[in-house]
Amino acid sequence: MTVAAGTLFVVSTPIGNLGDLSERAIATLRSVNAVLAEDTRHSRPLLERHGVAAKLVAYHEHNEAKTTPLLVARLVGGESFALISDAGTPLISDPGSRLVRAAIDAGVVVAPVPGASALLAALVGSGLDAERFTFFGFLARKGRARTEAVAAIGALAHTAVLYEAPARVGETLADLATAGAGDRQAVVARELTKQFEEFRRGTVRVLAESYMNEAPRGEVVLVIAGAEPMVLDEDALRIRARALRADGLSARDVVRVLTEEAQAPRNLAYRLAHE
Ligand code: SAM
Repeated sequence: MTVAAGTLFVVSTPIGNLGDLSERAIATLRSVNAVLAEDTRHSRPLLERHGVAAKLVAYHEHNEAKTTPLLVARLVGGESFALISDAGTPLISDPGSRLVRAAIDAGVVVAPVPGASALLAALVGSGLDAERFTFFGFLARKGRARTEAVAAIGALAHTAVLYEAPARVGETLADLATAGAGDRQAVVARELTKQFEEFRRGTVRVLAESYMNEAPRGEVVLVIAGAEPMVLDEDALRIRARALRADGLSARDVVRVLTEEAQAPRNLAYRLAHE
């Protein structure tokens, strides 16, 4: 007889307001054999409040490598688990991706039970373009990885969302200003869904100055507007096209650069690339 594998539910929990735990999340947490939590002491009150009797098992960055194979074996054996993090959606700057990948590789069904995430709450409350965005999580604190991420946000043509520790908000905004994003609109979303929820809006430079003087209190998400497209007139576009051709780009690549980077109309880019 073959045993049907269990399911790994990826369950979002509140990021502040306890009312944000969905009915389906509660039902799921009550139904599973065990709840895998980043910090069992932190999550126990939430589960007790909702009458969840399932066993709590610690699953965090320090034991995930060791415990993942054991947990997957139990899933394959027919048990079901709910993975939660301290707050919000697991895997989003939180542990879980290793387990999800291993479960999928073992043929176990992975079912998301969506809910709160600071990333989306900040984005939709920011007023900045939410059609297209890149999530950067926490930036590296120093070194090349940080320089590259800051430069990437500086050049990004659409919205960037990042998490940051309160004490580092001023420095990160200042670094972004130095990377050319100083005049872009930004929003510092603080204490989302909590009593002192706040959206501070301004340019990156002005917010940087303010938070260098005084770090925000509580948890924050930074949302940065994308760079305005370069608006070049025909003469400037011609010079750019010649320079690109001199660099060895094909006419086709020149058209692509002029239309994507400089937002030139396609027929004009085509003509300049072939002049
Ligand atoms: N997995 C979580 C999620 O889905 O939002 C994020 C976990 S990450 C370890 C924690 C970071 O998320 C915080 O440093 C902060 O940047 C952001 N965050 C979490 N809750 C927040 C809240 N209520 N208000 C603002 N930012 C929050």
